[in-house]
Amino acid sequence: MIIIILLFYKKIFDDLKLNALFIATHPDDIEITCGGTCIELVNSGKKIGIIDLTEGELSSRGDLKLRRKETLNASKILGIHFRENLGLQDGNIENNLADRKKLIGYIRTLKPEIVFAPYPSDRHPDHIRASNLIRESVFYSGLSKIKINKTKPFRPEKVFYYRHAYDFPASFIFDISNVFDKKMKAVMCYKSQFYKSKSKNASVEPDTYISSKLFLDNLTHRAAFFGFKIGVKYGEPFFCYENLKIDSKNIFNI
Ligand SMILES: [Zn+2]
Repeated sequence: MIIIILLFYKKIFDDLKLNALFIATHPDDIEITCGGTCIELVNSGKKIGIIDLTEGELSSRGDLKLRRKETLNASKILGIHFRENLGLQDGNIENNLADRKKLIGYIRTLKPEIVFAPYPSDRHPDHIRASNLIRESVFYSGLSKIKINKTKPFRPEKVFYYRHAYDFPASFIFDISNVFDKKMKAVMCYKSQFYKSKSKNASVEPDTYISSKLFLDNLTHRAAFFGFKIGVKYGEPFFCYENLKIDSKNIFNI
């Protein structure tokens, strides 16, 4: 009987374990910056999750109810196994002990081998603050003397940073050629945030940095730019502070 109960809890435990966790400042950040990578990893059979730190309540367009629905629709297209919103305050993300503990609790429970985070240099202050919060939470998650409920210390192997507005020296570029159309479908679930042809549906919402046709077109141009660098149609760039291991098995596949 005890063995059956233990196996039952082990199954719940194993079900929660993710291969990779994408952490975003706002809903739609992952879809825009690295949605293709997310879809490719899901397609390869990996367990993938997303944590959005805020609900993006300061966005000039749309409202929370609409954005929650858009996020749900986008998640279905991505095919991810887990998504949660931490409800931190948009415009006031702090790298404080309480919020680090909140994030560490998730990291220890979900046990992702890889965490994806926003690159720490960006035009949006929230992305910078989120990056610092995530990087420190990943590190402190591995310290046994930090007690959070009954969680055990766990530190993901790698943090890969995705690119918002500012350039970085890419450590690698992920080929998303096969899933680019699907990525754009996930992006376009956030209808309240992006460009719509005025002739089809005149919007009374204020114009923003991401609501211009230029921004939307740039998602394709950007993916093509990075894809070209690795000899494919579309790509998404990532930065990693650590060196990446290459050996005789994988050197011919990179
Ligand atoms: Zn954002």
